Order: sequence, then C-alpha cells, then structure tokens
Amino acid sequence: MKYCINRDYVLNTAKKILEFDSPTGFCFDIMKIIEEIAGSFGYKFETTRKGCGIITIPGESNEKVIGLSAHVDTLGAMVRSITNGGTLKFTLLGGPIPATMDSEYCKIRTRDGKIYTGTFLSTSPAVHVYPDSKDKKRDPENMEVRIDEKVLSKKDVEELGICPGDFIFIDPKTTITESGFIKSRFIDDKGSVSALMGLLEVLNREKITPKYNTKIFISTYEEVGHGSSYIPQDITEMIAVDMGCIGDDLSCTEYDVSICAKDSGGPYDYNMVTTLVNLAKNNNIRYAVDIYPMYGSDVGAALRGGNDIRGALIGPGVHASHGMERTHYEAIENTIKLLIEYLMY
Ligand SMILES: [Zn+2]
Repeated sequence: MKYCINRDYVLNTAKKILEFDSPTGFCFDIMKIIEEIAGSFGYKFETTRKGCGIITIPGESNEKVIGLSAHVDTLGAMVRSITNGGTLKFTLLGGPIPATMDSEYCKIRTRDGKIYTGTFLSTSPAVHVYPDSKDKKRDPENMEVRIDEKVLSKKDVEELGICPGDFIFIDPKTTITESGFIKSRFIDDKGSVSALMGLLEVLNREKITPKYNTKIFISTYEEVGHGSSYIPQDITEMIAVDMGCIGDDLSCTEYDVSICAKDSGGPYDYNMVTTLVNLAKNNNIRYAVDIYPMYGSDVGAALRGGNDIRGALIGPGVHASHGMERTHYEAIENTIKLLIEYLMY
C-alpha cells in the first residue's frame, strides 16, 4: 500500500457534514466548515460570488489544472403558505421522493434565525379518522408540516415569525453503523464531499503533491441544476465526484466507486473514462462502470455553462437516492483511492 486512508477522519467528517443543514440556497454556514477543513491542512480557500468554495492544491506542474467537484447543497423544502388551521404548506427544493418525507421530523428556520421543530405529515394523517389515510398520495398538495408549538390558527403561526420563504430542513437521521454503513439523507452528495475532505487529509499527511495543479470546487445549487455553471477558468479537465447510481440493471454496489460512462446529458469524455477504468483495474480498486438513466452532474452544468473542459463523473455507490440513502465506507474509500491515482497519473 502506497498510502493509507484515515477511516476515522473520513467517517467523523461525513457525520459532521451530513448532520449540518444545507438545503440548496442555504449553504453559507456549511461552507465555513469546508473553509475550516481546508485551512486546517494549509490549503488556500476562496469563494465565488454565488457561494461555491474553491480549494487550491499546488501540483508539480501548471501545464493543466484538474478540477474535482462535489456539491454540498441538499434537497429540502420551503414554507409556501400557512393554513387557517395553523399548519404549513411547503414547496420542495430539488427532487426528494415525497412519500419518504411522510412522518419525517424537520426544522423551520425563520428569516431572523429562530428555529422551530415539526413533522411532515399527510393531510389525512390519522387512521382512526380518515378513510384515505393509507392510500392518499404523498405529495406537497396532500401533505403539510405540523409545528411543535401551540398554534391553532394562521395568526398563531404568524406570531411565531414564520413566513412564506422560510427554509425547512429535513432531518437527515445520520447513522453510522459498526459494520461501516452510512445511513442518512443527503449522502448525495455529502458522501463525496467527505471523500474530497478525506483526500485532502491524505495528501497533507502523506505529503503527496499531485502531478498537476488541482482545484477542488465545492458547489452549491447543484440540486437545482446550475452548481458548476461557472468554474475557475484555468480548469482544463474536471471530475464531478457525485453519487453512483444503484438498481435495476446497473452493476454498482454500496462498496464500489462508480464510473459513469453516460448520463442524461450524454457520454462523458472517452479518454478520461478509459483512464479512470484502467487506474481502478491496475490498482485493485473495486469499481463499476454504469450508465445513469436519470441523472445530471456538475460537469454537465459546467459544459452547458460554456466551459471548454473535458469531464468525467465518479463517486461512491449510493442506494435509494433522494430517499433514505445508504452507502458503505468502502465505497468512499475506493473513491478517494481512485482520485489519488488520477491526481498522480
Ligand atoms: Zn448529487
């Protein structure tokens, strides 16, 4: 083994990042954690105007600049209106599976920073009262948030300071098991952000200098499609590090680094994908190559934003994406290993 990955560091960082609320459009606070981590290893950190983070890792050569991106923004919800009965109607941020939100705990954050707790529920929530409690469609039309305060009317809720436009954070329920499974919402894409922070830890501790200057781009607004529409203009090739798909006829598992050959935006750069496959093969890194049927990445956003780059997409295999997700530490470790090989290649 040429280097060792710090399992405790990766898992502790994953827990810290996963538990920190950062729905798309509300990522300023979590970016401070990313800045702290980059600073703790002595890497330069900057932000773009819209709040994405850039960490610079000096390489041996400036002939090209490698970009590695992962997104720290997640799915969530926002208050749409207050009902006469004192509950909240909500609109979705990104594309969570609404059925999985039924009965989930949440936090409502008012614009002046007050936090209230609540629960997402069907509007027919009681089996003893509503004949359609079991069959009612779970979607924002038929769901609402019950606030944990004594509120019986719209006026009561308004008096708490809750307004349309307030963010609602879905409880991620982050759990890391003895057996190495990470169970949580938003492993897409905080599993990959943890992989990139784990990568910084290895590079710093093992004093590894990448072959080329490297920029880690921590994007926000990925879940709404424009995360990396702008990237630093010196980046010549970029790997989006984002969740690998699992299911149906795909071959990826929760232990693999997934290498995506094509997603909804079309094929990724042929030569980069080939290099990644060969590096995985030659270094005994457990991997899978797949086609993602319903997927867009930060590389797609960067290409559509007009950036002249080559692009690829890899990441830890994640089960039940945009629902109650799960992956295993091994998938994250394999992702870090493949990234190190690519940076040294
Ligand atoms: Zn993602």
